[in-house]
Amino acid sequence: MENIYKTGEGIYRESLGIEAGLKDVYESIDRLREINQVKVLEAMKEEGLTSQDLVGTTGYGYSDRGRDAIEGIYAKIFKAEDALVRSQIASGTHALTLSLFGNLRPGDEMLSITGKPYDTLEEVIGIRETGRGSLKEYMISYSQTELIPGGGFDYDRIEKAINERTKLVLIQRSGGYELRKSLTIEEIKGVCKFIKDIKSDVIIMVDNCYGEFTEGKEPSEAGADLVVGSLIKNPGGGIAPTGGYVAGKREIVENIAARLTAPGIGKDIGASLDINRLFLQGLFLAPHVVGESLKGAVFASAFMERWGFKSFPGPRDMRSDIIQTFVFETERALLLFCKGIQEASPVDSFVTPIPWDMPGYDAPVVMAQGGFVQGSSIELSADGPIKPPYIGFMQGGLVYEQVKMGIFNALQLMLKEGIINI
Ligand SMILES: *Cc1c(COP(=O)(O)O)cnc(C)c1O
Repeated sequence: MENIYKTGEGIYRESLGIEAGLKDVYESIDRLREINQVKVLEAMKEEGLTSQDLVGTTGYGYSDRGRDAIEGIYAKIFKAEDALVRSQIASGTHALTLSLFGNLRPGDEMLSITGKPYDTLEEVIGIRETGRGSLKEYMISYSQTELIPGGGFDYDRIEKAINERTKLVLIQRSGGYELRKSLTIEEIKGVCKFIKDIKSDVIIMVDNCYGEFTEGKEPSEAGADLVVGSLIKNPGGGIAPTGGYVAGKREIVENIAARLTAPGIGKDIGASLDINRLFLQGLFLAPHVVGESLKGAVFASAFMERWGFKSFPGPRDMRSDIIQTFVFETERALLLFCKGIQEASPVDSFVTPIPWDMPGYDAPVVMAQGGFVQGSSIELSADGPIKPPYIGFMQGGLVYEQVKMGIFNALQLMLKEGIINI
């Protein structure tokens, strides 16, 4: 076969065998994709989506039929009573923040059962103080239990941590930027039942960022009362230019809507402007795109291992998010990896990523990112903190071939500098 990737012959030749050996893994991803594609299409059909729904509103956005249809479709996909899907939700962190502030009241306690939550939530909760309205300032307390080594829930500790004030339990499905495995829907199902048996009225909320469509079911089908995520990740399909969603029990979603807009107004306002079509088109493509990302991650995992880099999860491990991690051992290897990914970007391919002191991080961070939507992480991107053991995170990829190209570029750069050998 001709090497059309314009990268080193040796690297390309080696990839052919690796790719052929992954055929059965790719087939299982295709089956997953089929399940989710049918689910999305059915939801659009059942909702009776019309061409008028693609057109948005201005001003207050009263009677925005497209917006309501989108929320109906999300509710169907997530098997939830209701959903809120808005461009006014600025990010995943914003969606999570609205969910917490909308449903917690002074005196309540929230409990994270997946250890320390995603970095940006520390200031929201008040683990790190900013003096600008954290949950802690509103007398809402916080506790957490760690996952057991290897990744499962610590059932004993969870039971002990649930008390009369516990109002909400947070589960983060993806490992985020911790080196742990993502939680499967089966695992989430088990712990939801366990929690409800102890305290039936507690709200179980899942941070679903990076998890959507990576399995045939979502956490809301496994006992979670609320799932929350970002539209510049999986469910936006690379098309949604901004936004976030929540889906869950009606009462809980109403509380969140009252926080997003105003008590008494809730879901009834919020002009969609020109975004309805993009949300819908992105959602329509999302199962396919997530499949591309998963295949890219599987390939990268297998091929990087071939060159001696530890990768996590491994190519044949169960996945419940789209994040792929590598251990680079040296700063140089991590930087070259990011440079290689950047070179495979459709936008800003000529840029060399350099580490910078990102607010809220204890080490400089290097990031490769050259997509069509700023910061979108369903588009191919890579990043990592500059500290031993120099772990790099790679996620997304709207098309499989781009991920392959990024990995080839990175390995080619490493080969030139003698970091790897043929
Ligand atoms: C990305 C992410 C968030 C936050 O989303 P932003 O859009 O970056 O604010 C929260 N939790 C997890 C697990 C994430 O991956």
